[in-house]
Amino acid sequence: MNINISNIKVDNGAMLNAYPDSMGGTLSDIAELLQKPEMQDVFQSFYILPSLYHSDLDRGFSVIDYELNEELAKAEDLAKLKDLGLNLKLDFILNHASVQSPQFQDLLKKGKDSKYRDFFIEWNRFWKGYGQMTDEGYIQPDAKWIASMFFRKPGLPILMVQFPDGSREPYWNTFYQEIQYTEDGQVQSYRGQMDLNIQSPLVWKFYEDTLRTLAGYGAKIVRLDAFAYAPKAPGKKNFLNEPETWQVLERVQALADRHQLELLPEIHAGYEEGIYERLSQKGYMTYDFFLPGLIIDALERNSGELLARWAQELYAKQIRTVNMLGCHDGIPLLDLKGLLPAEQIQHLIDTVVARGGYVKNLHGQKNTYYQVNATYYSALGEEDDKMLLARAIQLFMPGKPQVWYLDLFVGRNDHEAVERAGAGGHKEINRTNLTKQQVEERLAWPVVKEQLKMLRFRNCFPAFGFDSSMTVQTEGSNLTIQWQQHGYTAQLCADLISNHYVIEGSGPDCENIRIQN
Ligand code: BGC
Repeated sequence: MNINISNIKVDNGAMLNAYPDSMGGTLSDIAELLQKPEMQDVFQSFYILPSLYHSDLDRGFSVIDYELNEELAKAEDLAKLKDLGLNLKLDFILNHASVQSPQFQDLLKKGKDSKYRDFFIEWNRFWKGYGQMTDEGYIQPDAKWIASMFFRKPGLPILMVQFPDGSREPYWNTFYQEIQYTEDGQVQSYRGQMDLNIQSPLVWKFYEDTLRTLAGYGAKIVRLDAFAYAPKAPGKKNFLNEPETWQVLERVQALADRHQLELLPEIHAGYEEGIYERLSQKGYMTYDFFLPGLIIDALERNSGELLARWAQELYAKQIRTVNMLGCHDGIPLLDLKGLLPAEQIQHLIDTVVARGGYVKNLHGQKNTYYQVNATYYSALGEEDDKMLLARAIQLFMPGKPQVWYLDLFVGRNDHEAVERAGAGGHKEINRTNLTKQQVEERLAWPVVKEQLKMLRFRNCFPAFGFDSSMTVQTEGSNLTIQWQQHGYTAQLCADLISNHYVIEGSGPDCENIRIQN
């Protein structure tokens, strides 16, 4: 099937998503894979996860510095990706940096004399006058000041940091930490993602430098990891504080504009809160974190009604999304609040858990389920037809489709990896590294070949684009989505009972294209 029929470039082509060591072991291996004939014209972009940089925890999201981690990736690999015509989506983790970052290390060494003293958030200085000092040496804020605060883990978000003179100070630490103790219970070493203080001019200098570095790597889209945690104030939610969070975004956008970088702010919030829409109204791309759950729900209930409604909303409001099936995190649940009725969310959880997934709640509160961890293939019951239909639907939903490598290569739940990772290692279920040989073998699997065929169509056929016209219809178990632009038409007709679909493409200078399963 020759789809390269026009020189019109689709502006929201498909995006591969992987760690640098996900396929073969290094980014060089991935570049080699992408040079294979089977992978030609399949992707326009590549979201490389942040273990591309020097990092130590959270598989990349605890950045030491933004230099390339040469064990996994070299400048020449990025050059090869560029030669292949791929642009990059890269992470800018503006809320935190590793304990091992040069800034935090300087602080540890020089204490109050460090020029980075204000770079991080000294908990006790932040909360002075808002609570009581405890015997452990941290201020416990008075209840009224943290009543509306959003916590990502049980207890206060603190890491007790030990200075060379033996003194200990608590620092703000929203996300992960890892403390190693000696046999007699002393702290031997610790790691952590230390929150940055956006009041510090040096932090903004660091932001500026980082965005320049990312542009130099070939980034076109910059993912703003966990940005909503950055502004902090006593008494606030400390998640999407308003208007401060919007001001931070604007300031980052001004820095990004210097390098023509498009920002993709990453936030999980219930549909009912409408954050996705507000981001879009302010001109940002947004994540479609609703789609992964909506597709499973649709395939379980054999109905395309909610998908059609969501597609229509995105289209009518001209919301430019990046969408996905699986990704390095779990299948989002919190986001579905207000879009799916509570009992349907519960059914979705029960289904994925019955198929071997894990459910993650926020610090034990049952009504704040956060995500369910599983590979997308296992979440769908490990049925090839369902995987293919899910992919077909994703590719026809509005947005730029992002493709998790383990969905493309139909990975199953990796329970051993979860066990190896120990407490809190549930995300490892969907992060299995594939060897070169495994990738080679799987390239011959029909379920992989069919996905590649659809991706090539989606990536190159000129009916698709952010500004194309869409119609969507649903009746019973049928779902039809059509895109039109430049005289080209692409249509998906899917049956959510049989899981069969037909994709057709037609246009002025091409033979009719038909892909079906
Ligand atoms: C990423 C997570 C990460 C967290 C902290 C996110 O939302 O997707 O994988 O653990 O930010 O950096």
